[in-house]
Amino acid sequence: MRLVQLLSLVLLSCSNTSAQPSSWMEPFPAHTIAGNLHYVGSKDLASYLVTTAEGHLLINSSFEDSVPLIRQSVEDLGFKFGDIKILLISHAHSDHCAGSARIIRETGAKHFVMEQDANAVENGGANPSRLKASYTRFTPTRVDRRLKDGDEVTLGGTTLVARLTPGHTPGCTTWTLKAGGLNAVIIGSPNVNPGYVLVNNQEYPGIAQDYERCFRVLKSLPVDLFLGAHGGYYDLTDKHRRFLFAGVSNPFVDPEGYKRYVEDRETAFLTELARQQKLKAADQLNR
Ligand SMILES: [Zn+2]
Repeated sequence: MRLVQLLSLVLLSCSNTSAQPSSWMEPFPAHTIAGNLHYVGSKDLASYLVTTAEGHLLINSSFEDSVPLIRQSVEDLGFKFGDIKILLISHAHSDHCAGSARIIRETGAKHFVMEQDANAVENGGANPSRLKASYTRFTPTRVDRRLKDGDEVTLGGTTLVARLTPGHTPGCTTWTLKAGGLNAVIIGSPNVNPGYVLVNNQEYPGIAQDYERCFRVLKSLPVDLFLGAHGGYYDLTDKHRRFLFAGVSNPFVDPEGYKRYVEDRETAFLTELARQQKLKAADQLNR
């Protein structure tokens, strides 16, 4: 099969919505996690609303078809979708940012993105190397502010801090904030996707060192509320069930679960890195 045909097949299979996990588009009850931090995503594609008296911040637009669902969740909590002033993302992959253009059109929100992911957002994921990571295209979206590690985003007295946790994408961002007096950490993604090249990656040199930085940063953060770009990172479904029947304790407070998750993901990264290094060494021996 010619390369062009192969690539278009890959593109087709990536853009085929039936290939997505059904949990990505399945509605999920909107709920307040703590203080002014709320969950407005689907069963697995996490979106977070941070409400203030001067308007709201939204983290993750998900897919274009997710936007009505996010809007419904915002309204279910008694807030106005049009009051979203700032849109943020976890990273420049379509499942977290493809709905951004539509949300900006509908709300007029400003769009802040970590600088290392800003070009991908503005060109709609045009980098062809991303096909290796089942990366799909999305509507290019203007970025109003390019963020650096440690930058603060403040609205109505609430401050979110952007932490660069790269590797999964060069600008993968973990958001931290204080909500109801608790330290909330929304992990951007520590995952090595199938097909990711960790050794001698020409399009992303230093990817392995970036993952190492990601884990260093994640392990350094003070955590009460363990959250992430996908509900599956932190057992959203199970915790939400307990949340509904909770007495005084908030099941989203889970520093131990956070620690276990980060350690598990680091082990997965190191295992995959070792596997690829071994393959590379064998390949060089055979030359
Ligand atoms: Zn991703």
